[in-house]
Amino acid sequence: MHVLLPARHLLPSLLCYKPHYRPISSLSIAPALVRSEGHSGGRWVPATSTFPVLDPSSGRELLSVSDFGVQETREAVRSAHTAFQSWRVTLAKERSVLLRKWSELMMQNKEDLAKLITAENGKPLKESLGEVVYAASFLEWFSEEARRVYGDFIPSPAKNKRILAVKQPVGVATIITPWNFPSAMITRKVGAALAAGCTVVVKPAEDTPLSALALAELADQAGIPGGVYNVTPCSRQKTPTVGEVLCTDPLVAKISFTGSTATGKVLLKHAADTVKRVSMELGGHAPLIVFDSANLDQAVAGAVASKFRNSGQTCVCSNRLLVQKGIHDAFVQKLAAAMNKELFVGSGFDERTTQGPLINERAVEKVEKQIQDAVARGARVVCGGKRHSLGGTFFQPTLLSDVTTDMMCTQEETFGPVAPVIKFDSEEEAIAIANSVNVGLAGYFFSQDPAQIWRVAEQLEVGMVGVNEGIVSSAEAPFGGVKQSGIGREGSKYGIDEYLEIKYICYGGL
Ligand code: NAD
Repeated sequence: MHVLLPARHLLPSLLCYKPHYRPISSLSIAPALVRSEGHSGGRWVPATSTFPVLDPSSGRELLSVSDFGVQETREAVRSAHTAFQSWRVTLAKERSVLLRKWSELMMQNKEDLAKLITAENGKPLKESLGEVVYAASFLEWFSEEARRVYGDFIPSPAKNKRILAVKQPVGVATIITPWNFPSAMITRKVGAALAAGCTVVVKPAEDTPLSALALAELADQAGIPGGVYNVTPCSRQKTPTVGEVLCTDPLVAKISFTGSTATGKVLLKHAADTVKRVSMELGGHAPLIVFDSANLDQAVAGAVASKFRNSGQTCVCSNRLLVQKGIHDAFVQKLAAAMNKELFVGSGFDERTTQGPLINERAVEKVEKQIQDAVARGARVVCGGKRHSLGGTFFQPTLLSDVTTDMMCTQEETFGPVAPVIKFDSEEEAIAIANSVNVGLAGYFFSQDPAQIWRVAEQLEVGMVGVNEGIVSSAEAPFGGVKQSGIGREGSKYGIDEYLEIKYICYGGL
């Protein structure tokens, strides 16, 4: 029989070192990449006011950034529309070369870009470097896809007619992105948009505009024409009005959004009045199922990887761990031991850190509330469970057992370092719990039984399935969700279609 380690044995090594505030000037980032003004029509543009970008490790200000309002945003949209007239007719090969150059510049500057991500988002520098490489891979991938936008020649039902279908760029695309991947959520969209011949106006999250602006500098250096990639940074206060402009302006043809399902619904309503095309990458609530047939070590490694990346702040993080009764106790014990051994909380600039701070106080409050609710309803804190002694927005990686489906943490996305474990009896029960929510982005399961693998992979109501694997994203694979997790796919050979219209040409009189 397996005995669970008491929480006090796990806590000491989860307590680490004090984070140090690192002013942005001390990070030795190339000055050209540290930008505080918006980018519109190929120029750096100030606004009448600014807003502070904060270091999540200390809550101190990193930089004041131009706070774009309605007027500056409309100008950015106009710049994008003007640039679209010439960008749409560039050769696919020309767009391909420019995107590749942009990607190469990202790789050449990857250390500096990673420092910017860690400074504004807090994630460990190693993860930030991984994000930059991942982000650059979308520009590289779509530089290749730009040259493969094929149409169709369709057999005609009439002898005197020929039927063609050609693909054309939709126009100006509004790109609204979250703070959890300040660089990759932009390039995954912008790579596809630019490859298709669209121009973009990017509104980055208020917490993390610096990466978006650094990308604008590199776009300029790559030779991407002014007005093709515009950035409109703005504060949380101005976001609703700026967002409305970006989603209702008649010059905008397409909205591509990554963020919460709640915000996505607001933007879908905005889109309705002018019938804009939409792509929505929204919230998740991923199940991670461990069957009795699983390889235990593989399941534990997969759970750590999928749960604790970016301190649990990714849309594809496993959010509900469903563990079959025969393997349950061993799994909980091994997962607790792995968390204790592998997870270090601290400043993203400290080499040992695997868990940076949460993005802000609201995020910590949500995590605390979910844990309190779970404990009040009978869950057991196996390890963690509290704010970290480092203070600020640092939180202890937390493992909860005896979790039931009436608890808040099993009903809504956590977006923090909490792993709640639900025990189940049968495969049917696990699938029913996994599919009982109204979102479906990623889902993971661990099994060594081939028939079970096919059954479960096909039945999970999600857009992406990890089988014996906790990390599934790549530029080559289609990313996206079902149900209220979104509309459309990003990356892969499908991603570019989100920015293309199909035009049918009937050539008659032959
Ligand atoms: P959020 O919805 O609060 O913010 C996302 C973006 O929308 C930010 O740029 C924000 O400023 C903007 N925004 C907010 N209100 C707006 C409005 N009224 N008009 C226009 N723009 C508005 O989400 P968040 O907290 O930044 O990000 C976390 C969420 O994003 C989670 O739910 C996560 O699952 C989701 N996410 C999804 C994916 C995916 O690919 N499906 C990827 C990353 C994050």
